[in-house]
Amino acid sequence: MTEKKWVYRFDELAIAEADVGEDWEAVRGLLGGKGANLAEMTRINVPVPPGFIVTTEACNAYLAAGGNPPERMWDQIHTSLKQIEKETGKTFGSAANPLLVSCRSGAKFSMPGMMDTVLNIGLNDETTRGLAELTGDPGFAYDAYRRLVQMFGCVVLSIPDEAFEDILEEHKEAKGFKSDTELEAEDWEGITQRFKGIIQDHKQIEFPQKPLEQLRMATQAVFDSWNGKRAVDYRNAAGISHELGTAVSIVTMVFGNMGNDSGTGVAFTRNPANGKKVLYGDYLLNAQGEDVVAGIRNTSHINVMAEEMPETYQQFVAICERLEQHYREMQDVEFTIERGKLWMLQTRNGKRTAKAAVQIAVDMFAEGLISKEEAVLRVKPEQVNILLHPQFEPQAEKQAEADGLRYANGVNASPGAAVGRVYFDADTAERMAKKEHQDVIMVRPFTKPDDVHGMLAAKGILTSEGGATSHAAVVARQFGVPCVVGASAVNIDLKARQMSVNGVVVSEGDWLSVNGTSGDVYLGQMPTIEPVLEEQTELLTLLDWADEICATEDIRLAENGHPRRGLQVWANADYPADARRARSYGAQGIGLCRTEHMFFEQERLPIVQRMILAENPVTRQAALDELLPFQRADFEGLFEAMDGCPVIIRLIDPPLHEFLPDKDSLLEEVVTLRLQGNTNDLAAKEALLESVKGMHESNPMMGLRGVRLSIMMPEIVEMQVRAIFEAAANVAAKNIQVFPEVMIPLTGHINELKFIQPRLEQIADEVMAAKSVAFDYKFGTMIEVPRAALTAAEIAEVAEFFSFGTNDLTQMTYGYSRDDAEANFLLKYVEDDILPENPFQSVDTHGVGRLMQMCVDDGRKARPEMEIGICGEHGGDPASIDFCHRIGLNYVSCSPFRVPVARLAAAHAALKQRVGSSESVLVD
Ligand code: PEP
Ligand code: MG
Repeated sequence: MTEKKWVYRFDELAIAEADVGEDWEAVRGLLGGKGANLAEMTRINVPVPPGFIVTTEACNAYLAAGGNPPERMWDQIHTSLKQIEKETGKTFGSAANPLLVSCRSGAKFSMPGMMDTVLNIGLNDETTRGLAELTGDPGFAYDAYRRLVQMFGCVVLSIPDEAFEDILEEHKEAKGFKSDTELEAEDWEGITQRFKGIIQDHKQIEFPQKPLEQLRMATQAVFDSWNGKRAVDYRNAAGISHELGTAVSIVTMVFGNMGNDSGTGVAFTRNPANGKKVLYGDYLLNAQGEDVVAGIRNTSHINVMAEEMPETYQQFVAICERLEQHYREMQDVEFTIERGKLWMLQTRNGKRTAKAAVQIAVDMFAEGLISKEEAVLRVKPEQVNILLHPQFEPQAEKQAEADGLRYANGVNASPGAAVGRVYFDADTAERMAKKEHQDVIMVRPFTKPDDVHGMLAAKGILTSEGGATSHAAVVARQFGVPCVVGASAVNIDLKARQMSVNGVVVSEGDWLSVNGTSGDVYLGQMPTIEPVLEEQTELLTLLDWADEICATEDIRLAENGHPRRGLQVWANADYPADARRARSYGAQGIGLCRTEHMFFEQERLPIVQRMILAENPVTRQAALDELLPFQRADFEGLFEAMDGCPVIIRLIDPPLHEFLPDKDSLLEEVVTLRLQGNTNDLAAKEALLESVKGMHESNPMMGLRGVRLSIMMPEIVEMQVRAIFEAAANVAAKNIQVFPEVMIPLTGHINELKFIQPRLEQIADEVMAAKSVAFDYKFGTMIEVPRAALTAAEIAEVAEFFSFGTNDLTQMTYGYSRDDAEANFLLKYVEDDILPENPFQSVDTHGVGRLMQMCVDDGRKARPEMEIGICGEHGGDPASIDFCHRIGLNYVSCSPFRVPVARLAAAHAALKQRVGSSESVLVD
């Protein structure tokens, strides 16, 4: 039997592929994203220093065995080291020609929350002397050694970086040095001794002199870091499985700090902020990689490299182009030039803003790199949401500028406008956001993986240091948090918990407005506006492609009368202005018009109250006759805006007491009037109070509402249906196509529909006859009560369409009050993993979802090809949209602002489950 392979050299990619069944995702799973890409670059002849990867399987085996590496892992590491020694002609641990390696963590998905890199492993007192001699540059050799001791201390032994940095600063101050480059060999040697002392003090161990021991400790520390708090938090936030484990890449060191023919940098093959096809990155002459990433030295724009090293730059540009062609994705690369020779140290798909994601997807289709389907899948639905994020009102921003409120300016690292109160550390920022429900701007000199929880809780982020590729920038972009970095004028005093720019002090808790799109930061609270979708050409193109995909016939299985195309996206809109916006955002119908919202308008409410309090049918009818023209006008506006599209109008749903004053305030008024002896208004108020008391219910959500109210008081819905059909007839007369669908809420028993629906249909027919017009219409019901879902076959005999009201259906299925649960216990339930997620946000597929699926199947058995949609809040949630696609709904309906998100999510669902793809179409 062949031995289990725990280690793969970069030139053994073919073996790794064969071992996991030739599946690239599985290769990434085994070797980690970083390792797999290093091996892939080696295969396509991109210059990568020799190295090897210890697999994620080794990590998982090590962790499962309580910190014991699997048998033979170390032997395989030694064998691979020997192979590198052969290739490089250097020897690990030899003073004559020392081989030095870096040890880098690398999970399947890139995780800024993980332990990162230890460089220069292999240096000790002896090999450092050797390196000094060999290079003739003792300053370089001893600097390299102190870097190893420092990184080893921080990364492997978890000693705070400040312990080392303080010593370095102290030394520089004592010697009057301004920058690290002024330090000489003796300085570094002395500092390294003191660093070793820190390790001794903090950990009571000596810095290991044996290179193999250094490598062993570093590798195991990477494995251990998989379960570190930072990494676990990050995975929770990013939805990455805890089972994956991390790989470790061990790579021959190359040095960018060997003189002016050396350098190092990081770059994106396209601009990650706006997506434009230009190289974007930072570069440093005569420096080591971490100097760029950590923002210790001021970096130059990558263009400077074209002047300083023109030939190498050309080679670099060609490699970037090659990598893009190979991966068909924008790449984020790290490179080092050692004495004129260019080495690529990393490539991965670059993180980008939502704006850049859309631009790059559309451009790459135009460049022939990817298909339309791939372009659509490249943008996450939530990224569309970010593009519709608020911006500052341009006028207000100008005014703030004129008023001298612009406080600072930095790199526009992640777009969007954020307004909040300033907090200077991640824990406070998180606490203020979560516990105090404040809008928070987190301000730090720079951020580290430890700060991610604060960054995620913040509305915006500001740092005074770092560039476009700094930790803060990368994380903020990934999570869509507006962010400005490197605002160097800002002087942050973490101890005093304040910052200042030219003497203007902002203290903790003060308001700040951060424009992540421009990089400007303003004092105070600035008003924001919604961005205009119509101006976002690339996004519109992408959404058109999404609609094309959804409209593809036979993209879904058509069993049981399910639709063959993908989902349509409709909107919940009550007013013509909402409908127009929804349509301009791409809605193909109105899935829910909540008619009662119109009753609340100022001039109508008194009429509604008169109607409710009427003592006899005549006065009630008089009030209803007054309301009818209002409703008719509302509906005319909706039909006009939705010319040619279906419009579902829901009949009155809430209990009537919602239209009357609140019982407690009325009681207070009555008592006050009595005390004042004011008899004028007293009688009326007392009568009102009696009526309100009479309508009181202990559980109004389960009380006299929806269809029950229509049965008890049919006059209201009769008026509404008359208004709907008169409006439709009037609009149809203007040559506008109307498709009214009348929706009855809260049905629980077929007999409810049997009682009310025929009366209403009769009114519809009467109106059409009187107006001499005919158009198609439907009467249907909401499915909001579990019993309705369970008896869908019966209900479908009368109802011509179903729409899932998942707000009520979730409430009634779980037995959670939708008005109270979130405030009382639901958030804790989600936080403590009692529930996997908030069922009012994302459909509970196992419970509510099963009812939905049963309802769809039974409903369509009784009425084949019945139109079924969803209009609860879940209709705009990408995961729920995926579910709705799977169970065969015709459309999802959501708020107009969510329509673009839903269009993309619907296309994703269609592509992921397209007929013939490997994924199941059944509910799990
Ligand atoms: C629902 O219950 O999901 C629904 C859309 O109706 P409402 O929110 O108006 O009760
Ligand atoms: Mg409802």
